[in-house]
Amino acid sequence: MTSFDTSKGAPKKREPQPRGAKERGNKPINQSEAADRFIASTVHEKMHDDRLWTLRKNRDKITYAIEEWEELRELASQIKLHTLSHLDQYLEMFERNARANGVHVHWAKDGAEHNRIVHKILADHNVKTLVKSKSMLTEECGMRHYLDAVGIEVIETDLGERIQQLDGEDPSHIVVPAVHKTREDVAEVFANHLGTDPNESDIPLLCEQQRQKTRPYILNAGAGMTGCNFAVAETGTVVVCTNEGNADLSANTPPLHIVSAGIEKLVPRAEDLGVFIRMLSRNAVGSPITQYTSHFRGPRDGAEMHIVLVDNGRTERLGMEEFWTSLKCIRCGACMNTCPVYRRSGGLSYGAVYSGPIGIILDPTINRRKYSSLPFASTMNGSCTNVCPVKINIHEQIFAWRKVMAENHELPVIKKTMMKAAGELLSSPALYRTAIRSADSALRILPRFLVYNPLNTWTRQREMPEAPDQSFHSWWKKNRMNGKKEKA
Ligand code: SF4
Repeated sequence: MTSFDTSKGAPKKREPQPRGAKERGNKPINQSEAADRFIASTVHEKMHDDRLWTLRKNRDKITYAIEEWEELRELASQIKLHTLSHLDQYLEMFERNARANGVHVHWAKDGAEHNRIVHKILADHNVKTLVKSKSMLTEECGMRHYLDAVGIEVIETDLGERIQQLDGEDPSHIVVPAVHKTREDVAEVFANHLGTDPNESDIPLLCEQQRQKTRPYILNAGAGMTGCNFAVAETGTVVVCTNEGNADLSANTPPLHIVSAGIEKLVPRAEDLGVFIRMLSRNAVGSPITQYTSHFRGPRDGAEMHIVLVDNGRTERLGMEEFWTSLKCIRCGACMNTCPVYRRSGGLSYGAVYSGPIGIILDPTINRRKYSSLPFASTMNGSCTNVCPVKINIHEQIFAWRKVMAENHELPVIKKTMMKAAGELLSSPALYRTAIRSADSALRILPRFLVYNPLNTWTRQREMPEAPDQSFHSWWKKNRMNGKKEKA
């Protein structure tokens, strides 16, 4: 497909969409290789960076307008810490109250069991088509592929999720799943799969095309599925926050509603929602509230409602001293929007269900070897921690994961060798000073091609600083030591 750059008046070949990290079984994901490809796709990289930075700016504007924002963050964190510390009690309370509301409650220890339970519910009702709204948990469980394999068609009804489903890709962001695609990419996907005009990339028109094509599925589906943003223990209620109304249609049109909920989604009381609902959309995209905040308490007349409570490694994570607080996450995506690595490398470069800073600390709990490189995809600037509405110490957990990877020999040989050399250099002041002096001299005299070459990844996207005439150390020695001896 060709698009036209009207500023220059000449036809210009459209930049193809960069694809994500290659999966090679259990082998470590090569995030930096996929990131390189994304960065090389300059149109996509700039668009992605701009879009997410806009979300971050909108978030800042709306949160700064709330004087008690920091108190809300503290309160949200305390509620989550309390709930997670009494999770068994609140889960039992939730189950009791949901059953009393006429809901069928199921427990799944992992993704495979979740998929079998959902399949059985659908098979018992002879359902052949399931419409579903966005749920990262079902991505985590690989549910769509499982149901496809047993002959049940799954139709995503969230616009971004549907785009990704049609394109055979995973979501690249937990809130805006197709944020890495340009509007021309979407037009191409729709043209290939929905038979629409590939040259028509007007956004309202693309939305309308998706709406028209998906609506018949919703009207005829045997079952609808939603995720769960919050599960209220004292009422047995499930709360789902969306902007498109597709979750409500999926839940309320077919005669069967299935909810997939991670066990960490519990909050004790309905009044706790006042804290989280106030923060979620503001922190995610900078809007005061999601367009739809739906409370599902029980089945409609003549309908059935099932809730599948899923562990899938969460209990194990709860026992990890340095990482258990990652379970506080309410999936707002703000840590991704602010992360310079995520913004410039795209979510699919992480090769995992969860990407960005939250992905870096969750993914290794799912598969340590496969996601061993992810903790190094961070500048450790701490911005993720600063924007987190539930005060997860994200950058500290990233650092803790780096230590775990080093202790468990999960580092690539080059990184391990360099870290070892750096450790020896930095632990010897004399060696360090000699190295600095040599590096300064080298920078002054070496021809540029010897410093800026393909073997030196450090200088691929940066200029080295100019070598100073005098190091801080020698200045200090001359001006401040007054003849005192320094330690070797
Ligand atoms: S870790 Fe915090 S900022 Fe990131 S998605 Fe979760 S709640 Fe949002």
